[in-house]
Amino acid sequence: MALFKKNQSVNDDDESEEIEYVLFQGATNGIEANLEENKKLVAAGLTAAKELVSEALEEKSEMLKLQIDGKRAMASFFVDGMKRPGPKYPGPQANAVIQMLKLLAGLDITVRDKPQRGGISAKYRDLPFELMVKTQPGQGAEQLTVTMRNLKTKRVTPEDIGIPEVIKAKIRDTAASHRGVILIAGPPESGVTTTALCALRCVDSYLYQCFILGNLYGREVLNVPVFKPEPGHTLEMTIDRIKRNEGDVIFFDEFIDPEVVKTAMMAASDICIMSEMYARDAADAIAKYVGLVGDPITAAENLACVVSHKLIRKLCTRCREAFRPSPKLLAQVGLNEDTKTLYRKCPPPEPDPKTGEEPEPCRACGGLGFRGRVAVFEMIEPTEAVKEAIVAGADPAAIRAAARKDKQITFQKDALRLVEDGTTGLEELKRVFAPPAGKKKAVRRRPPQ
Ligand SMILES: [Zn+2]
Repeated sequence: MALFKKNQSVNDDDESEEIEYVLFQGATNGIEANLEENKKLVAAGLTAAKELVSEALEEKSEMLKLQIDGKRAMASFFVDGMKRPGPKYPGPQANAVIQMLKLLAGLDITVRDKPQRGGISAKYRDLPFELMVKTQPGQGAEQLTVTMRNLKTKRVTPEDIGIPEVIKAKIRDTAASHRGVILIAGPPESGVTTTALCALRCVDSYLYQCFILGNLYGREVLNVPVFKPEPGHTLEMTIDRIKRNEGDVIFFDEFIDPEVVKTAMMAASDICIMSEMYARDAADAIAKYVGLVGDPITAAENLACVVSHKLIRKLCTRCREAFRPSPKLLAQVGLNEDTKTLYRKCPPPEPDPKTGEEPEPCRACGGLGFRGRVAVFEMIEPTEAVKEAIVAGADPAAIRAAARKDKQITFQKDALRLVEDGTTGLEELKRVFAPPAGKKKAVRRRPPQ
């Protein structure tokens, strides 16, 4: 498609500004967009779609949302998990942008009342990106989410995302024992699949035969094949076939369907089952898993562990500010009393007292004080106390309390190592681990495929 010129200039008031446009390179599902047949849509939506995605990429967003509310629509960008307002559109134009991106992602533009999901290969500033396009019906119009993944900097190894050694060891041991369910959980849009695949990579795929059951949307794990079920076979029959093929681990895509979860869990008595789940934390994931299985005792018996991640922002190393913590502060947060230096976000720059001029913000982070994110982890194993909490009704708070009593790995404990080495600051932990305000929001789930 020669539709997109590079370095096209756009007149912005009096200044002529150079904008680099994203280059769309085709749908990841191989379906070619028929632009000829959709001339009207292309005229209405292509430039705006290109501008929106380019702006999101320029701002280093990992995600953009376009929500239509009646006659108006607003885009928002998410940078390191923080929402920022994007451009506003009249409703019809926003709809053209959505339909255009659907067309480019190889989705069916005639279907608007069902969730759809696809991908666009793209290039921006010479870097390869994958744009995951998701649409969902809602509020009388389709709503759009585009997740942007830089294929050059994808975090692929357990070391890259910082899975603690003790969690890696637990995953390896469970695979070696040929039994038990390992769940990898995290909030929606936090990269749960990336972490789950990293967890799968903790298992030596040359020693243990791992198979993937389900759709990874083009992602691959070296030496781990996707298992193709025979036509007409039930899940049970497919799992039996994997066992006959000397499988040690089966990786399922998202655990969401009760029948799938029950069947997989029943199989976990002689094969290791791994899957991903959207949940706020590990205790929440256990509660959901028990709910899907329906039988708390069997669910607890077959569970090996639940690993959950949360993303926290990293302090900008260019402008972070060192300070000496007081012994009281160290004791309060549970840090080693010998800690000499901690870091915090730089204070906002003061304007020059004479000229009143604002100083230039830090060039590395644009004055935000943070740059990039890192994951912190927790892991809950079904110890006696945790099992008791599960059988007693699987209330997440009770499971959390039991795990804490057993000194299992909590987010806070894992995050303190990142405060200690200056990767992040205490104010960021406070923001991330503050109890949710008001009523807890329902966790959005990926629609079944
Ligand atoms: Zn900075």
